[in-house]
Amino acid sequence: MAKKIWIISMFPDFFKPLTEVGVVGQVFQGMRGEKFEMNTLYLPEFSEKGFKGVDSAPYGGGPGVVMRADILKRALDEGIIKSGNYNPENIKNELAVIFTAPRGEVWNNSTCKKFAKNYFNSDSTKDLVFICGRYEGIDERFIEKYVDEVYCIGDYVLSGGEIAVMAIIDSAMRFSEGVLGNGESAVEDSFEVNLLEHPQYTRPAEFEGMKVPEILTSGDHKKIDIWKKEKQVEMTKKWRLDLLEKDRK
Ligand code: SAH
Repeated sequence: MAKKIWIISMFPDFFKPLTEVGVVGQVFQGMRGEKFEMNTLYLPEFSEKGFKGVDSAPYGGGPGVVMRADILKRALDEGIIKSGNYNPENIKNELAVIFTAPRGEVWNNSTCKKFAKNYFNSDSTKDLVFICGRYEGIDERFIEKYVDEVYCIGDYVLSGGEIAVMAIIDSAMRFSEGVLGNGESAVEDSFEVNLLEHPQYTRPAEFEGMKVPEILTSGDHKKIDIWKKEKQVEMTKKWRLDLLEKDRK
């Protein structure tokens, strides 16, 4: 049975392209096995006042508005637990609720792999719920009681959680068994060994006077491997010295 990914959002339209295009689109279309099914919920449907009823001014003052815990809970109860036939008594074993926020656990290659192992593999039975924050975020009491994990995708502030949730689904799905074919394997990608990828070249052999590095056309695979490794170190030194320092620890 396909694993269900539920998304609670003010703007569910964000997720349409994710389920329609590219590798992840193929997964959701069932073209790479019946693995995942996405259901998006429009949060205002669970508030009596529609769009206007989902948020309110923060207690204690301050700018903006905060999303209400009771409306989020109603979406979880009615839109997911009831309509998805989950057992309300056993919810922690059937669903994992994920939120994204600047103060969450940093999303990187290792958190991504851990997440994929926990939730995107065949032996993981839990379905997933993603809560997309907007405005100043969501009421802390909802996080305390119903959210299992919080992730931050980078040191900057987005206007909403939708793009963060898409980044999480896209990157974790690459580590889900059988999603990527052999030719698309994730093991040679950047970060897998705390190194970035080496530069890549393809046809034509000459582009605007620039030739492809000779070694790549030499056919000497041993030398090519050494070249690739050297270039990986060079790239990492240039762009992400911190990764090399991490390797040394
Ligand atoms: N007032 C909050 C920011 C709210 S931004 C603060 O200062 O921390 C609105 C929503 O966008 C957040 O609730 C969160 O869900 C999402 N968001 C913003 N930046 C993010 C990031 N770097 N990683 C993950 N989610 C983020």
